Amino acid sequence: MTFNATTVAAAAAHAAQTTTQQLYANIDLTKLSWLEQMWAAWYIWIDNPIIATGLMSFLLHEFVYFGRSIPWIIIDSIPYFRQWKLQPNKVPTAQEQWECTKMVLFSHFTIELPAIWLFHPMAENFGMNTWQVPFPSWTTMVPQIAIFFVFEDMFHYFAHQALHYGPLYKHIHKIHHKYSAPFGLAAEYAHPAEVFILGTGTIAGPVLYCWYTRNLHIFTVYIWITLRLFQAIDAHSGYDFPWSLQHIIPFWSGAEHHDFHHMAFTNNFSTSFRWCDRIFGTDNKYREYRARISAQKAAMKNKSKSERDEAERKLIAEIEAEGQRAEAIAEGIMPASKTVKAQ
Ligand SMILES: [Zn+2]
Ligand SMILES: [Zn+2]
Repeated sequence: MTFNATTVAAAAAHAAQTTTQQLYANIDLTKLSWLEQMWAAWYIWIDNPIIATGLMSFLLHEFVYFGRSIPWIIIDSIPYFRQWKLQPNKVPTAQEQWECTKMVLFSHFTIELPAIWLFHPMAENFGMNTWQVPFPSWTTMVPQIAIFFVFEDMFHYFAHQALHYGPLYKHIHKIHHKYSAPFGLAAEYAHPAEVFILGTGTIAGPVLYCWYTRNLHIFTVYIWITLRLFQAIDAHSGYDFPWSLQHIIPFWSGAEHHDFHHMAFTNNFSTSFRWCDRIFGTDNKYREYRARISAQKAAMKNKSKSERDEAERKLIAEIEAEGQRAEAIAEGIMPASKTVKAQ
């Protein structure tokens, strides 16, 4: 090789590149999509993959969580939408929403933020692609995300039931049940231990999948986390619209399913899908309640709207009172034998 001015210049240019830039040395970035170029630019700009992945993960969570909650805050402030509210007499006040926001932000900044810098080393350790571009194709990502949905739903079903066991409920899960009529922002209103336990269901799916297959990009994980956040926030929204997803996909849980869990303190332990509760019979009270609501609506077809609303309110109050008794039993405040159930 002739050692001339050109090779000196090339060597100097190479030395001037940061370590992160060198990662992309053999990739023609101009041939990539805009998003992939931005992705590489982010890693080059931060110039530290641990910080780049950690910060992006944290920002994604904040933007999606609060961004998705804002429409629900607006909907709660418009009386027109009350007709689709599952517990119409329980609309969260601005004060309640603000208290909830403060608690969620506190846990994001004190628990999630310090831990999130472990995300990149953990991902690399399991062979997950992070800074790499291009992204996988849609045909690779879609089945992976479907697997994560199913895994998380089953994990959550059993872990959530465990959290209803007396001591675990009293010391951990009770915080999440503060709201018997939940709202979007309340999705992550929970004890840090609960965030950790139930968050495992969201993260363990991708980690285990990656460990077995060595074929997963963190971009796919971000899409999964975004969809999972949408699912959690929407399930807590307290609204069941005619166009809600559960009316299009019958096995999707949605707010109509999870709202009952908060109202009745029992049944409906899963997140995304209805099948676990159906298979294991933990949706019996929920289905009985839906049947009673439908029967009541049919029987009161000719009555005035206020009479129908009053009857619905009564039924909701009855279920909620039963839920409060069940909660007291779980906490050991009330012995199980003292309950009088009208069944
Ligand atoms: Zn629960
Ligand atoms: Zn909940």
